[in-house]
Amino acid sequence: MLFVHLWTMSWKQSQFQKSKLKKFVCMNKFAGLLVVLSVAFSSCSTYKKTTSTDNGKIDVTYVQVNDVYEIAPLSGGKEGGMARVATIKQKYLRQNPNSFLIMAGDFLSPSVYNSLRYEGKAIRGKQMVESMNAAGMNFAVFGNHEFDIKESELQERLNESRFQYISSNTFHKSGNQESHFQLTSPDGKRSEIPETYIQTIRDADGTVARIGYIGLTIPFTKVDYVAYTDPLATAKKLYAQLKDSVDAVVAITHQLIADDKILAKELPGLAVILGGHEHDQRFEKVGKVYITKALANAKSAYIVKLAINKKKHKLKVTPGLEQINESVAIDPTTNAVVEKWVGIAEKSYASSGFDAKKIVLQAGEPLEGREIETRRRPTNLTRLIISAVQFASPGADVAIVNSGSIRVDDVLQMPVSQYDIIRTLPFGGGIREIEMKGSLLQKILDAGEKNKGIGGYLLYNENLHYDSTANNWILSNQPINLQKTYKVALTDFLLTGGESKLDFLKPGNPDIIKIDDPEKRSPVLADIRLAIIKYIESRNGALR
Ligand SMILES: [Zn+2]
Repeated sequence: MLFVHLWTMSWKQSQFQKSKLKKFVCMNKFAGLLVVLSVAFSSCSTYKKTTSTDNGKIDVTYVQVNDVYEIAPLSGGKEGGMARVATIKQKYLRQNPNSFLIMAGDFLSPSVYNSLRYEGKAIRGKQMVESMNAAGMNFAVFGNHEFDIKESELQERLNESRFQYISSNTFHKSGNQESHFQLTSPDGKRSEIPETYIQTIRDADGTVARIGYIGLTIPFTKVDYVAYTDPLATAKKLYAQLKDSVDAVVAITHQLIADDKILAKELPGLAVILGGHEHDQRFEKVGKVYITKALANAKSAYIVKLAINKKKHKLKVTPGLEQINESVAIDPTTNAVVEKWVGIAEKSYASSGFDAKKIVLQAGEPLEGREIETRRRPTNLTRLIISAVQFASPGADVAIVNSGSIRVDDVLQMPVSQYDIIRTLPFGGGIREIEMKGSLLQKILDAGEKNKGIGGYLLYNENLHYDSTANNWILSNQPINLQKTYKVALTDFLLTGGESKLDFLKPGNPDIIKIDDPEKRSPVLADIRLAIIKYIESRNGALR
C-alpha cells in the first residue's frame, strides 16, 4: 500500500455554514425522496450516541473500481474478482466506518454472460449486480456500456441494485419525454436516480460532514431510451448548486481522461475525480484535483482518503493503490454468489462443447487484446486468431476476421483458459469458406483499412499486405489478381453485410463464385472459439 501526494486546500467559510446542522438525517435532497440503502448508510446507524466531544475532524475512505466485466478472478485465478473487492472494502471499513465502495461505470456489459440465458431470460449483467450487492457496493455511475442492453433489461438491473446510482447527465427518454431514471427496489420502494446526491456522515466523536456527489457519463452510446446533457456544463452547474451546502464535492465519472482533466481544471474545488472508461489505470493531478482510474476487471482498486478538518477549513486528499491479486483473501459471502453464476455459465458452455476451466496456454507472452490496439494493427492475439482460422480452413488463401468480434478489451495474462478464449470472442460465430473474385477481395480489404480504429477494421494473414507505393494488395509476394478466384475464410458475421463499409459483402454479390454450406462444414469451423482452442492444442501437441 503506497500513499502518495498529499494536498490541503482552504475552504470558503460558506462551505461550513450548513455543516452546523444539529440534526443528522440521511436524505436524498435532490430527488426529494428518502432513499433507504442500508449498505450505503452503514455509517448512519453506526454511531447513534456518543459521549466524546466533536473534534471537528472526520475521515472518509473510498475504495474505487471501474470497468469491471468479470465477477470471477482472471489470469488463472490470480487477479481481480468481486470477492476480493469485497475483502478490500471490509478491510477499510474496519479502519473507518465511513468507507465506501465506488463503481465508476461499465459493469453490465459487455460480458460473455450477456449471451447466456438463465431461467428463461438473458442474463445481461444480473450476475454483476448480484456480485456488487454482495460485495457491499455503495455508489455507481453509468458507463457507456450500461446502455448496451435493452431498456427493459437495464430497468431490471436497476431494480435489483442495492446501491445508490448517481447520474448528473443521463436521463430516461420515453418518446419526447425525458425524466430521471427510476427504480423499484426489492422492498417495493420507488425512487429516482438523482443528478446529485448528498451523503451525511458522522464519526465516533460526533463530527458530522456532508459530501456532495456528481456522476458523469460519456454521451457515447446513442440509444432511443437515453438522453444526455453535456457532462462539463452539467458538472459546472451542479457543482455551483452543491458547493455551499456540503463539506466536499466528489465527482464520479465515466469519460475520457482528457475530459476528466478539463473537469479538474474547470472545477478546481472538487475534492477528487473517481473515474472510469480507460482500462489501463490512470493517475493524474490537475491543480489540486486527483483523477484516479483503476485497472479494468478490478485488477486494482484506488483507495482515496479524504480528511476533513472542519475547524481549520482544510481538506486533505490522500490517494493510494491496492493491487487485487492472490494476496487478497476471497470473501466467502461474495464468492458464493460468484460461484453460483460461474456454475450457471460453465454448464452453458459445456453444452456448446467447451470446458471453460481448462487451461489452453500455460505460459508465454501476455496476449494484447485491448481495442485501442486490435482495431488499428495486428497484435499477438489477433495473429493467433488468424492462424486459428487458417488452421480450421487449410485450403484458404486468405483468412479475414473483423476486429470488432474481439471484445475482451484487455491484455490476457497467462495462464489462458478456455473461458478466456470465450470471453475474448463472446459472440462466437462460425467461419465461412467463400470463393470470390480478386476484385471483391480487394474491395473488402480496402474497406477494412477505411475502418481503422473501429470494429470494422479487418485482420488477415501475415503474407498479405498493402503496398502503398504500388497502390495494391500483395498476397504471397504477388499483387492480387482482380480476375482470379481466391478462397477466403471469414467470420460468418462478415457475410451478413452488417459490418461498417462492408454492406456489399453478402450472398448474392456477383463476385462471389462459390459459397459453402454452413450445415455441412466441419465442426472446427462451427465456432471460431473452438477453432482457436483446437489450433492451440494442435500447436501444443507439436511442441511436445
Ligand atoms: Zn467505458
